[in-house]
Amino acid sequence: MEKSIIIIGAGIAGLSAGCYGQMNGYNTQIFEMDTRPGGLCTSWKRKGYTIDGCLHWLLGSGPASSFYKIWEELGVIKNHTFIDHDEYISVEVGDGKSLVLCADLDKTKQNMKEVAPEDTEVIEDWIKGLKKLIGFDMSVDKAPELANIFDTIRMMFKLLPYLWFMRKWGRMSVKQFAERLKSAHLREAFLGGAGDMKDFTILGLMMSLVWVNQKIAGYPLGGSLALSKTIEKRYLDLGGKVSYKSPVKKVLVKNDKAVGIRLADGSEHHADIIISAADGHTTIFDMLEGKYINNKIKGYYDNNLIFPPLLHVAYGVSRTFNEAPKSVGGFNLMIDKPIIIAGKEHNRLPLYIYNFDPSLAPDGKTVLKFIITTRYEPWEELYKDTEAYKAEKERLAGELLTVLEERFPGITEQVEMTDVATPMTWVRYTGNWKGSYEGWIMTSFGMRMKKTLPGLDGFYMVGQWVEPGGGLPGVAPSGRNVIQIICKKDKKKFVTSTP
Ligand SMILES: Cc1cc2nc3c(=O)[nH]c(=O)nc-3n(C[C@H](O)[C@H](O)[C@H](O)COP(=O)(O)OP(=O)(O)OC[C@H]3O[C@@H](n4cnc5c(N)ncnc54)[C@H](O)[C@@H]3O)c2cc1C
Repeated sequence: MEKSIIIIGAGIAGLSAGCYGQMNGYNTQIFEMDTRPGGLCTSWKRKGYTIDGCLHWLLGSGPASSFYKIWEELGVIKNHTFIDHDEYISVEVGDGKSLVLCADLDKTKQNMKEVAPEDTEVIEDWIKGLKKLIGFDMSVDKAPELANIFDTIRMMFKLLPYLWFMRKWGRMSVKQFAERLKSAHLREAFLGGAGDMKDFTILGLMMSLVWVNQKIAGYPLGGSLALSKTIEKRYLDLGGKVSYKSPVKKVLVKNDKAVGIRLADGSEHHADIIISAADGHTTIFDMLEGKYINNKIKGYYDNNLIFPPLLHVAYGVSRTFNEAPKSVGGFNLMIDKPIIIAGKEHNRLPLYIYNFDPSLAPDGKTVLKFIITTRYEPWEELYKDTEAYKAEKERLAGELLTVLEERFPGITEQVEMTDVATPMTWVRYTGNWKGSYEGWIMTSFGMRMKKTLPGLDGFYMVGQWVEPGGGLPGVAPSGRNVIQIICKKDKKKFVTSTP
């Protein structure tokens, strides 16, 4: 008889685990607390506009990336058109100047030299480094947990040509790179553009630029919820079942083996295997009451850095913005008068102009959105006072519109829709710990976490809380890998299919 698997959460990790579970003959059911699939990979509608809450790019959108195969298997490639932008990001650096990083690396070099001719040597060295990264791609076909000695040797051989490169750039933070620059404008571009990530390796930015250059990290037209719904459809077509509005309160355990779940309505559901694709903190400390933990796991939650939560302030504007370049990372604006958000001064504001996806707004109209890194605790406190919380959202929407008015005169009159989503919005809809948008920050190359908990059988975790770095290219393979691990345990050959 087929073994049964219960999956908690219909985010991309949960849907992926469900799809591969079904492909491999398991009888799976997903329980999701929200009314829709996707978790963080979502969009929402207001007054005829669609506010995209997630994807700016998807690694693996082109066949030169090993992730492409996974998106093919999940039905994404067949059902979505990807567009590749020429611009990666535009960062204002003062004195009316901006640094524009582009998909074309020679154009990027030229732009950097125009901003900082005195830094030609460092710029040449950096661009040379970027070009060396072209073609770098690690296999994601086999779960790292199942790698044998031959896989490790193969991987070492693949990495060999890049070892010197990794040593040089992987150990250099954005801040250290900026310290090598003579030009205050170019330094400002890197430090300002990096925001709170200044202490992390510059290699992250370098890899991102190369993905855009290689056209393997495109934007899926239609946006994030459409993509999540595609994977949900793939799962249902494979015979999977999803129950929405089904918050899981407890994982049921008998003799240190997970045997089922209890929902908020008190109903209990049983299965041979339980996979949590939901928030890590809730899974470990609430659903399992902190009973299956060791110092290492506790240490993660006490000490590890997480991607901070975000404030989204969106405007639906009756205007086209055809003149603005189509950009992956948008426009990093510098402002003279700082805006206070959650008790912190902000002199820089990342702005996204969604002029590249006509499906997100009625004809002749556009969504503009600020996505700003913020602190969790002040928002949590403010949320307790409904009126004050509402007033703060209104204040910020007003102040940020003033910033837009300075750059796009007349815009205030053209705004038809305003929407503010705070870290508390994300907690409410996805349950993610402290509103984090991507889970753990990868502080070292190859940082890994286990998908099992100590002393608990028949239970696995997948998704951004066990895959440092998060993102869809982290969590979709996570769901695939866990089914590979389960197949291996059940002595079954792991198989995949494409729709
Ligand atoms: C603004 C923003 C921009 C981003 N941009 C990109 C990008 O461009 N490219 C990229 O690759 N990634 C991007 N990401 C990151 C990416 O969206 C996430 O890393 C990824 O979607 C996480 O997937 P997940 O399945 O692990 O978790 P989640 O999406 O959090 O899914 C967990 C699911 O579990 C459900 N759940 C939680 N608790 C319970 C419970 N008790 N019972 C039942 N269900 C429960 C939740 O409702 C949710 O549906 C972005 C994220 C944000 C917010």
